[in-house]
Amino acid sequence: MASERYRCSACGGDLVYQPGQTALTCPYCGSSQGITAPTETIRELDFRAVLASAGAGQATLERQETTCSGCGARVTLRTGVQADRCPYCATHLSVEVQSRRHLQPRGLLAFAIPRPQAQQAFQRWLRSRWFAPGSLRRLAGWEHALQGVYVPYWTYDSHTVTAYTGQRGDDYWTTETYTTHVNGKAVQRTRSVRRTRWHAVSGVVDNRFDDTLVLATRSLPYALAEQLEPWNLKALVPYDEGYLQGFRVESYGVDLEAGFGIAANRMRPEIAQTVRRDIGGDHQRLGNLDVDYREITYKHILLPIWVSSYRHRDKPYRIMVNAVTGEVQGERPYSLVKILLAVLAGVAAATGLFLLATRAAG
Ligand SMILES: [Zn+2]
Ligand SMILES: [Zn+2]
Repeated sequence: MASERYRCSACGGDLVYQPGQTALTCPYCGSSQGITAPTETIRELDFRAVLASAGAGQATLERQETTCSGCGARVTLRTGVQADRCPYCATHLSVEVQSRRHLQPRGLLAFAIPRPQAQQAFQRWLRSRWFAPGSLRRLAGWEHALQGVYVPYWTYDSHTVTAYTGQRGDDYWTTETYTTHVNGKAVQRTRSVRRTRWHAVSGVVDNRFDDTLVLATRSLPYALAEQLEPWNLKALVPYDEGYLQGFRVESYGVDLEAGFGIAANRMRPEIAQTVRRDIGGDHQRLGNLDVDYREITYKHILLPIWVSSYRHRDKPYRIMVNAVTGEVQGERPYSLVKILLAVLAGVAAATGLFLLATRAAG
């Protein structure tokens, strides 16, 4: 699968990218070859213009990939393997590949954390998890448990102008008279009561968003991927295939337009926050927010994640390691047997204490 460019000049083996370095090495004879870092800068592209032209004139590339029948991910196969598993859902992948054309990524963060280090992070994470099934523990001990995947993302910039309506609430105190009974006699007392006066407001606020990140696959759990953030997007390097050698690449399953819909949702809380500040007062109620997204630009990028997938009672679970920061996030099943044993042990201990106590008392 590797093109001529990524063959070892000494022995013809497929070169692989070494995490944390700017070189490819040959796993067979050990020779290495540097990646000549491209000097171009990563440009933001105009979102609406690219959509309007249906991507015409944009850099595209062709990839040989297979579609997972379990989760729909479109991934490249590992070089030279006869049987392969989906890194996201552990389904056996068909080795039949199709050639597909995609918008070319503009930038990427290369793998910085090598496999053994990611593996240790995975094991540390698992040790702090109670009641994990034995099969998950065995997985964490397997040296090929983690697969290195370049996961597709979009990032969007936008200047938003939001016209809003709403209500501003200002608190004030009033003195209220009430009747109470003291020694059976009715007496009049006063107390301070807080009230809120509401009035209608409207206005316009501006927000500027830089690199709002959107996961461009539906095969990984969104919430989990979000927890792998932050990524240092200032450290993106221009796209170079050299960094991909020896790793899998997934193609985007969320397209440019759908991706912006997700980005807009991520921008929403910050816009609402700005509106609340603009309204001021002690309380705010938001009415209609009419957001105009201006100057939308985007980048298509790849981010490096070590992924392990695991099936338990026919459900997939994923453990992911951010291959730049080493942060681990995962889903895990609970072993019912282990929980039950722990409960029984607790009951046994309590019964034992009870028996001791009654014996001591008797
Ligand atoms: Zn070689
Ligand atoms: Zn899958």
